[in-house]
Amino acid sequence: MNTHTLSLPQIAVLATGGTIAGRAGDASKTAGYKAGVVGVDDLLDAVPGLDAVARIHAEQIASIDSKDMSTALWTTLASRINALLAQDDIDGVVVTHGTDTLEETAYMLHLTVKSAKPVVLTAAMRPSTALSADGPLNLLNAVTVAASNDAAGQGVLVAFNNQIHSARDVTKISTYAVDAFRSPETGVLGFVQDGRVEFQRSVTKPHTTASQFVVTEAWPMVEIVASYADASRVTVDALVAAGVKGIVVSGTGNGSIHATLTQALMDAVKAGVAVVRASRVGSGHVMRNGAASDDALGTVSAGTLNPYKARVLLMLALAAGSEDAVVLQRLFDTY
Ligand code: ASP
Repeated sequence: MNTHTLSLPQIAVLATGGTIAGRAGDASKTAGYKAGVVGVDDLLDAVPGLDAVARIHAEQIASIDSKDMSTALWTTLASRINALLAQDDIDGVVVTHGTDTLEETAYMLHLTVKSAKPVVLTAAMRPSTALSADGPLNLLNAVTVAASNDAAGQGVLVAFNNQIHSARDVTKISTYAVDAFRSPETGVLGFVQDGRVEFQRSVTKPHTTASQFVVTEAWPMVEIVASYADASRVTVDALVAAGVKGIVVSGTGNGSIHATLTQALMDAVKAGVAVVRASRVGSGHVMRNGAASDDALGTVSAGTLNPYKARVLLMLALAAGSEDAVVLQRLFDTY
């Protein structure tokens, strides 16, 4: 190693699988491949110029399609990231992940990583074997962001398709396009292109070192139900009978809920289940006492968190012992 190499930041790349590590039978295939089969060393070898950006410490944490993400793996991942970032010789972390549940893992880490050092998730829409695979450039850009001083203290980030998003706001918006992520109400945090990292705004809600949440091994059962024409009470009743601790409703519009489902949820609240109203719309916020009266129902409004992120926050809050609707509402207003 020469002096220049030694002065480069050391970035830990933790691989979990996903399409970025996917392999198909032929290069024309961008669907119909197997996700999570290419190892982290091969992912890194496919990125020219990486050694000019950072020294890399690589670990294979899992090899899964992220549709199969589990809370047990979240515990492993968050714990490993916290341990690595506590080391003086690690300057940042990159996580390679599938796109399907990336926004959930990213928000979970945003609330449970206890370091100001950069943590950047990335992924790909095309498998590693595809013509014009997007994984290598996304990985190079993610390492570039993680190695940037400007990324410190910004919370967990997602680097994808030259954009930098906050873990809190980012969501997948396309089933096939390479431009697959948006932050609907807030927009991108910044850009990364050709080695240049530029932030245009910073995150205001608390995260990482300012978050009160810690990663848990005892994730409470929290499920998501949706409201739609003719929505019945069958699912909610079955969940309550199964001992669910929290329910997030993917409501219509501004978190409105079918009358039949509303009655079932009121009964769930009476049975001690925490109920959060989110929206299936994909952008906008759900106002407290807006399209439904949270005061009357005993529910909590999710604000700008989509149902999947609302579930993450509700699980962490319940795991920390916050069950009261007033306390939960304050947490949803804060985070
Ligand atoms: N199903 C894949 C996954 O989430 C999709 C992707 O990575 O784009 O692992």
